[in-house]
Amino acid sequence: LHDVAHPVAVGLEVAGDGRALPVTAGLPDDMFLHDGQITKRAVRALTLSALAPRAGDLLWDIGSGSGSVGIEWLLAHPLNTATGFEADPQRAARARENAATLGADRLQVVEGRAPQVLRGQPLPDAVFIGGGLSEALLTELWHLLPQGVRVVANAVTLESEALLGAWHRRAGGTLLRFDLAEAAALGQKRGWRAAYPIVQWSVTR
Ligand code: SAH
Repeated sequence: LHDVAHPVAVGLEVAGDGRALPVTAGLPDDMFLHDGQITKRAVRALTLSALAPRAGDLLWDIGSGSGSVGIEWLLAHPLNTATGFEADPQRAARARENAATLGADRLQVVEGRAPQVLRGQPLPDAVFIGGGLSEALLTELWHLLPQGVRVVANAVTLESEALLGAWHRRAGGTLLRFDLAEAAALGQKRGWRAAYPIVQWSVTR
């Protein structure tokens, strides 16, 4: 599973004759140990694009799950740093393992619930909210974060989608909806199997 190093992580421009891996964000999901709670490859690629890592930037990856977003943030540049915040201790341990395997062991994973767990942490250049989205979290972030910090939030439930709709009206930014489908077997033929729509809000504080 993990006997392949990311070409960026190992400093190679050519990965040789191993598995073909994207040098842009969007590693295959099976490069990460996970329990199903993972931002899937295509959405992850769009998420990293919205987060727009610059060399040396610090990311807060809130609800870090498998760590995939924080890890791809770190792989974007050797000077980047990232802290994941994860409520589930098993997932936090898995994220650390994934980070070590993929050459991104500078990922820090803090166990705890946002927003409380964020207090007292060094302030980031960008924030991703992949879990724990709530009115309380956004309100607290707006108090904590200095202007200029990039914030990207992904929502899958109607409730969190409504929250992002309200904050988009109030604070601006870009609201996108991704309706992805993948071809899958449908009897003897194939059909489009739709994923849950994802609503993504990107804004600069
Ligand atoms: N981006 C992740 C997937 C996140 S799934 C990945 O690619 O792997 C959402 C995660 O948020 C879950 O692991 C869940 O345990 C965590 N979570 C939910 N509410 C949270 C909260 N308030 N604080 C911290 N983590 C939370």
